[in-house]
Amino acid sequence: MTFSPSHNFALQLDAQDKLASFKEAFVIPDPSLIYFDGNSLGMMPKAAQSKSRQIVDEQWGRDLIRGWNKGWWDAPSRVGDKIGRLIGAAAGQTLVGDTVSINLFKLATSALTLQPNKKRIITDTFNFPSDIYILQGIKHLLSEGQRNMQHEIIRISSNDGDLTPDLAALEAAIDENTALVTLSHVVFKSGYMYNMQRITDLAHAKGALVLWDLSHSVGSVPVHLDDCNADFAIGCTYKYLNGGPGAPAFLYVNKNIQEKITSPIWGWWGQKNPFDFDLDYTPAPGAQRFLVGTQPMISLLTMEAALEPMIQAGMDALREKSILMTDYASFLTESWLVPFGFSLGSPVDSAIRGSHISIRHPEGYRINRALIEEMNVIPDFRAPDNLRLGFAPLYLSFADVWEGFDRIRRVLEEKRYEKYPKQKLAVT
Ligand SMILES: *Cc1c(COP(=O)(O)O)cnc(C)c1O
Repeated sequence: MTFSPSHNFALQLDAQDKLASFKEAFVIPDPSLIYFDGNSLGMMPKAAQSKSRQIVDEQWGRDLIRGWNKGWWDAPSRVGDKIGRLIGAAAGQTLVGDTVSINLFKLATSALTLQPNKKRIITDTFNFPSDIYILQGIKHLLSEGQRNMQHEIIRISSNDGDLTPDLAALEAAIDENTALVTLSHVVFKSGYMYNMQRITDLAHAKGALVLWDLSHSVGSVPVHLDDCNADFAIGCTYKYLNGGPGAPAFLYVNKNIQEKITSPIWGWWGQKNPFDFDLDYTPAPGAQRFLVGTQPMISLLTMEAALEPMIQAGMDALREKSILMTDYASFLTESWLVPFGFSLGSPVDSAIRGSHISIRHPEGYRINRALIEEMNVIPDFRAPDNLRLGFAPLYLSFADVWEGFDRIRRVLEEKRYEKYPKQKLAVT
């Protein structure tokens, strides 16, 4: 498509947008706010707002303990299966619970202890730092005492200024000694998206297992875990899934591997018959064994309601709009912001890009502050110089994108960022 920078052009795109009406499914108290941070914390769906009130007033308030038999106990697998529909996972493989970091700990530890003779773990420098910390912690844990496993963590980097990972180096690093390849499918800074099928095949060819972090993919790009024959996946529900702050994460374990592995955390929710209160642990069948303990039901059930608009819209339609939006945003960056010293920090080719883009500027941090504090635009900042813009196709219009970029341009034109200190706030 040939884009134009005119406001009218944005309005035309909106007129042709089949998903435009989904904006009405969200709570929007301030229509002039341009929210480019749906990739960090999604906006609140009206369905989630009313459901959370119902949960508090009726389920917790009136049902009390009876709630466990009225849809609480089985919520991790019921809601897991709903998320499974968004990531190409047949029922019985996806469970909701805990955090992404904890789920990574459980699944990666199981994967490594399943193959005690293989010592290599491969990830990249694009991964979310918490994912790398968890791997470092597992390596430390498994090197202690009798295990003495001594893993080596290899981090593949970039040779194009942190835009895309070095795929040739990745391919070369996966060898017969590799136990696990674990990557963020869409990376959090540049928005680069891996070819899941290709990397999974490469790893399997060498006998390695693959674990995908879908935190920036779920609800933003179609994912086909079963078709790719991925072994494991984890992901967030408070980003593009709009589940609310701290909503529990999910994990996926391919049915072909479920019975071969055990969780490193043996809790009663992962026990075969929890209400027998047997003093010895027997793992529950299937992925269920990766549950640990009682889950935050108010948050989990609120998140379940939040999925409704997304399931209705369907991932293919969302992806189509997301590509058009990120292409449009890249065009506006080139037309309006590059002259002010910005550069595009994301792939130009939409086939290898998720639903957010980074635009880079040496003054990125102060520009971000000016946008939030005086322009009513919310992006976020990721060091060293990335202003990150998330495009959640369910509730953003093309006119919103136009308006947001116009305000960014004004911050530069009027040098509004200069009055802010370079000292960073705690949360950026
Ligand atoms: C957001 C995000 C997380 C968050 O982890 P929590 O443990 O749920 O806080 C983890 N990994 C990636 C890639 C993320 O984008």
